[in-house]
Formats: sequence, C-alpha cells, structure tokens
Amino acid sequence: MARIHNFSAGPASLPLPVLEELRDALVDFRGGGAGIMEISHRGKVFQSVIDSAMSRMRSLFAIPSDYAVLFLQGGATQQFHQVPLNLIGAGGAADYVGTGTWSSKAFKDARRVGDAVWAFDGKTVDFRRIPTDAELQVRTEATYLHYTTNNTIYGTQFHRTPRSPVPLVVDMSSDIGCRPFDVAAHDLIYAGAQKNLGPSGVTAVILSPWAVEQSRRTAAALPQGLPAILDYGLYVDDGSMYNTPNTFGIYALERVLAWIEGLGGLSAMEVRNRAKAELLYAELDRSAFWTPRAQADSRSWMNVTWRLPTDELDAAFVKEAEAAGLAALKGHRSAGGIRASLYNAIELESVQALVDFMQEFERRRG
Ligand SMILES: *Cc1c(COP(=O)(O)O)cnc(C)c1O
Repeated sequence: MARIHNFSAGPASLPLPVLEELRDALVDFRGGGAGIMEISHRGKVFQSVIDSAMSRMRSLFAIPSDYAVLFLQGGATQQFHQVPLNLIGAGGAADYVGTGTWSSKAFKDARRVGDAVWAFDGKTVDFRRIPTDAELQVRTEATYLHYTTNNTIYGTQFHRTPRSPVPLVVDMSSDIGCRPFDVAAHDLIYAGAQKNLGPSGVTAVILSPWAVEQSRRTAAALPQGLPAILDYGLYVDDGSMYNTPNTFGIYALERVLAWIEGLGGLSAMEVRNRAKAELLYAELDRSAFWTPRAQADSRSWMNVTWRLPTDELDAAFVKEAEAAGLAALKGHRSAGGIRASLYNAIELESVQALVDFMQEFERRRG
C-alpha cells in the first residue's frame, strides 16, 4: 500500500493509526459481531462511544463544565443558519468579521434571519490579513460577534482571541484542535469535523449557558417555536440524540481525539503544527520565486497559500508535484495559485518532502 502526501483542504488526511482502527470497527465492533455503523444509537455500546467523545472534547479543550457539547450534522454550513436562527431569530442584531469566503457565507445567512452587518470587511484588504482589535467596529446592540479563526481559501488565521464587548461566536472548522484554545472566552463554537477532527458529516458545537438560554428564549418568542432539527435546546436535552446522529462519524472523531491525547494533547499539537508551518514558510521566504499570499502576521498554520511567477508555472508545479506523490496542492478556484493544507494529521516528513520538491522545482524551472 502506498499512501500519498495528502495536502487536501478538506475532507483531509486522517491519522493512519485511526484509519486502521476504523477499518476494523466496520466489521466487528468490540467483539459484538456487528460493525459500528450497524448498531443502535440508543444502545449501551454506542452510548459509551458518544460519552467518550464528549468527555475527550471536554478534557482536551478544557471546556467549562456548564457548557454543552453537541455533535450535529449539516456541516458548518448548517451552523451559518442555525446560529443566527437560535441566537437572534426573534428579531435581533449580530456583527460579523469578514475574513474570507466562509465568513461571507455565514454573513449572508445571518442577513436572512436578522440585522447583520460587518464589524470588519476583509475585502478592503483583499483578504490578506486578519483585522486588529482597533479595526473591529462592534455595535453595542449586537447580540454576538461572529468570526472565523482560520480561512482555508486565502490562508489567514487569527492568532489571538479578538476583543469584543458582546458574546463571541466562532467558526473553527479548519483549525479546531491545532493548539490550545480559550473556550471560556467564547459563547458558541462550531466546527465541521472534516479538517482536523474526523470525517465530514459531524459538526462539533459548544454552547455556553448563555447561548443555550438565548436559544430557549428565541424558541419561546417565536409563535411556532424553532424547527426541531435546528433547535439547540432539543439537542442539549437529548444529549445530541434528538434524532439519529452520525454514529460512525462520532466514533471516528472519538478516535481522532484519543490520537491527539496520545500525542500529548493540544500543546503537543501546537509544537507539531508550528514546526510544520515554520518549515514551509521559511522556504516561501527563502526565494523570490515564491510569492506568499497572506501578510506575515496573519499566516495560517493550517493552509499555506502562495503563487509562482506565472499561472503556467503554478499549473506545472501542481502537476509535477502530483506525479511525485504530493497531492492536492492546487489553490481554491476563487484564489488560484498553490495551497498546502497542513492539518493535524499531516506529518513533518510530508512537509519536508514538499519543501525538497519545491527546491528541486525551482532549480529546474526558476
Ligand atoms: C470547510 C469550512 C466550512 C464548510 O464546512 P461544511 O462542512 O462544508 O459546511 C465552513 N467554514 C470553514 C472555516 C471551513 O474551513
């Protein structure tokens, strides 16, 4: 079996030891004679899986004990609608930090629900950097401020928690678990699992007591209440099992969390991810043959984006890298250029192989 160096932006590379465990669990889970996808979500065996996933989330991320943890479906995209529906659905205001395509999508859905405005519009800086606190204009009447920690397409990332006079809501889909994070400074955190935590089809949602109460207030204020599938309160009451959850996805996520714990937790992930990012950015800074997209202080550890001198060289680079076993390096269609995604499961050796290839490519084509 030959596994490639997989720099996919998502769904993305998963740790090989986790994949091997999943393979075995498909046919006979824990000696029960049935696979993980074939057993009831209401049974004891699956209950122990979801309990373990929740307790690993709580301990890894140091989630305050009065916060709720949910495993939902519908991806981050469902949260773009579910967040405003639950938090401002009865007619309220929310402010959004625009740092790329995902925050624009979140913003559009918030405008379908209530009065949403930009606290910062990254278009004005061509999405090359993250705003400073001084640039954020947050209205006092806003129910929350929404931001996106990491921008997969443009390759920028918040390296601090923004200062906000109102509750913070954050989309962490593409960097959750890349390093320790201040959960208690936020009221609602959501992340699709398919970049750093597992397969697509599971979304981790973490809610403060305020967020849960706000959702219940909204449900009570709407004449028909909230649609069941989008009502956080129902999922909190039923331990994420108001309806059938993605049982396989939750198991996979539980195994990825165990793998992170085994490596030493989020501080160990930070050391690992910093080393990978520094190696690749050092190469981008070494030669003028590469033009990095993000401003230096806003560079993402997860998605590194750059260009070569011409579009033809970009295309040749992607093609030749692919032939050398370095896959999925083409930039997003809206940004062009090259993108290497270095999520948690990517090993330093894969980044070293990429840097070696870059230096060889420059010698031949530079
Ligand atoms: C990938 C990504 C999304 C999209 O997630 P879906 O699961 O496809 O809905 C949203 N936000 C961010 C920050 C992402 O990286």
